[in-house]
Amino acid sequence: MKTKDDVLALTGEALEPAERSGVYEQMTAGMQEKMRYFLGYQVNQDLSYSEELHPFLGMHLNNIGDPFTDGNMTMHSKEMERAVLDYYASLWHAETPHANENGNSYWGYTLSMGSTEGNVYAIWNARDYLSGKLLLSQEDAEAEADRASRSGKPARAAGLQYSQADERLENPNAYRPVAFFSQDTHYSIVKAMRVLAFDTFYSLGTQLGSCPLSYPADYPDGFSKEYIGERGWPREVPSDLDGAVYVPALKKLVEYFLAEGHPIFVCFNYGTTFKGAYDPVESAVEALSPLLEAYGMLERTIVYEKNGQKYTDVRSGFWFHVDGALGAGHMPYVEKAAARGLLPEQEVPVFDFRLPEIQSICMSGHKALGAPFPCGVYMTKTKYQLLPPDDPMYIGAPDTTFAGSRSSLAAMYMWDQLARMSEDDHVAQAVHMQKMAAYAAAVLTKVAEDICYDLWVEHTSLSLTVRFRRPHPDIVDTYSLSCEALYVDGEKRHYAHLFAMKHVSRELLDTLAEDLRQEGAFPCRETKHQGPGPAADTLLSGRSFK
Ligand SMILES: *Cc1c(COP(=O)(O)O)cnc(C)c1O
Repeated sequence: MKTKDDVLALTGEALEPAERSGVYEQMTAGMQEKMRYFLGYQVNQDLSYSEELHPFLGMHLNNIGDPFTDGNMTMHSKEMERAVLDYYASLWHAETPHANENGNSYWGYTLSMGSTEGNVYAIWNARDYLSGKLLLSQEDAEAEADRASRSGKPARAAGLQYSQADERLENPNAYRPVAFFSQDTHYSIVKAMRVLAFDTFYSLGTQLGSCPLSYPADYPDGFSKEYIGERGWPREVPSDLDGAVYVPALKKLVEYFLAEGHPIFVCFNYGTTFKGAYDPVESAVEALSPLLEAYGMLERTIVYEKNGQKYTDVRSGFWFHVDGALGAGHMPYVEKAAARGLLPEQEVPVFDFRLPEIQSICMSGHKALGAPFPCGVYMTKTKYQLLPPDDPMYIGAPDTTFAGSRSSLAAMYMWDQLARMSEDDHVAQAVHMQKMAAYAAAVLTKVAEDICYDLWVEHTSLSLTVRFRRPHPDIVDTYSLSCEALYVDGEKRHYAHLFAMKHVSRELLDTLAEDLRQEGAFPCRETKHQGPGPAADTLLSGRSFK
C-alpha cells in the first residue's frame, strides 16, 4: 500500500489529474476537520471571500515598490492597497491622505508577511533614524535621479547615497540606539534585534555594570527571579502577571541609558501573543516623556555630511513602535463598542497616532480581520521615512518597502474583507469575540470547580485569550492549542491557551470544557495518586497544587 508520503512524492513524473484530486480531497477533509476545533491561535478561521477574486489566481500581479507610485510593473493592486492603507490610517487616527510633501501625513504599505515583517521594517527604520541616516524628506530623490539619468550618469547619483551622521560629536553614544521591549514580546522582535544587530538594554547593560533595578523592590508582584540574567539585569523589561509592561521598571531602565547618552527604541505590545495583554502605551509614553525632555531627546540635532558639506536636521532621540499584530485590528472596534454601551465600561488603552510620539504601528491581516494567508499593514509618518539604500530605476517606483516583489493578493483580500463589512459589522464582530473570551473564562473556571482541580484559569482584562493548565497532548492536538511554560512567583507552570476569534462559538467552548472534565485530561493530576514522575516534579511542588 502507498503511504501518504509516497502519494505526495514529486518524482519527476506528472501525477494524473485523478491522483492530484485525491490528494486535494484528503487535504481538504483533514483541514476542515481541524478547523472545526481550532482554538489555540489568534487567527480568524471564519473566512468568506468574493468569488470575483478567483480570476486573480490565474494571473501574476505584483505590488513591487512604493504603494503610492504605480511604477512600470502595470499588473498590480496598488489602488486597492492605497484604499486599505487609507482605511487603517483613519482607524488609527493618522493624518490622511498620504502626501509626500506633508511630513505629518501617514505613509505605509501592506505586508507580504505578517507583523514579523512589520516589526523588522520598523526596527530597521528606527535604527537608521536614530543613528542619523538620511531621510527621504531630506532629499528630492526623484529629481536627483532624474537629473542624473538625463545627464547620462548612473541613476545612483552621489547625493542619494546612504550617509552616516557625523561621528565626531562629543557624545560617543549619540548614534547608538538601545532597544527596550517586555518579556511578553513576540519572538519576531528578538529575531529582528539579531538580524539588524540592534543593541538591547540587556546586551549593553551587562557590559556596562550592574542593573539599576533591585529585586524585588523594583519588580512587579509575582515576578520570578528566573527571568533575571547576568549582573542583575532582567533579560527583557519586566511585565506584570497579566502580561503588560511594568512601566516603573521600564522608566528606570530607560533613564539609565539616557544618562549614558543613548537614543532609545521602545517596542510596545498591543495584544501580547500568549496573554493577549495591552501595554498601557499612553501612560508609558507619559511616564517617559519628562525623561526624554530632561536628557534632550525629545528633539535633538543630527549632523550629517553630504557631498562634502555638513548639514543638520532636528529629530527625536526616541522611536516608539507599537506591535499591534492582533490588537491594532481589533481594539479600535472594542473602543467604539464601549462608547456605544455595547460592552461593559472598561478603559481601552490608547495606542495609535492620537499619541503624537508614536512613530510606527504594525498589524497582521490574518488575525483579527482574517485572510487565507499571512499579510498585514505597516504604518508610520512621511517625516520618518528613510531614504532607501538604493534607487533602482528598474521598477520605476521608489524602493521604500522591505520586500522586492510584494503580494498583490494581500492588498486585494484585505480590501475585499473591508469592503464587505460596515463599521457596525466590525463592532458586532468585536463584541462577539469579547463575549466569547469572557464565556471561555467562565466555562473553564466552572470546570476547575467541578473537578476540584486548580486549572490556573486566567484571563487578562480585555484580552481575547484565556490561559489554563496544559491538558493532555491529545486535547492540545485536537484543539490546536498553543502552549508555553511560565514562571509564576518562582514556580514553573505549563500553560495552554485558547483565542476567542471570530469563528469561536459557545458550542465549541462547551465541547472543550467537556473534554477537560474527562478523566485523564490532566496527566499530572493522575501522577499525584500514582506517585510523581520526574517530569511532574515541579508541578507537584507548586503552591497551587491541590
Ligand atoms: C502574531 C504576532 C506577531 C507576528 O505576526 P505574524 O503575522 O505571525 O508575522 C508579532 N507580534 C505579536 C504580538 C503577535 O501576536
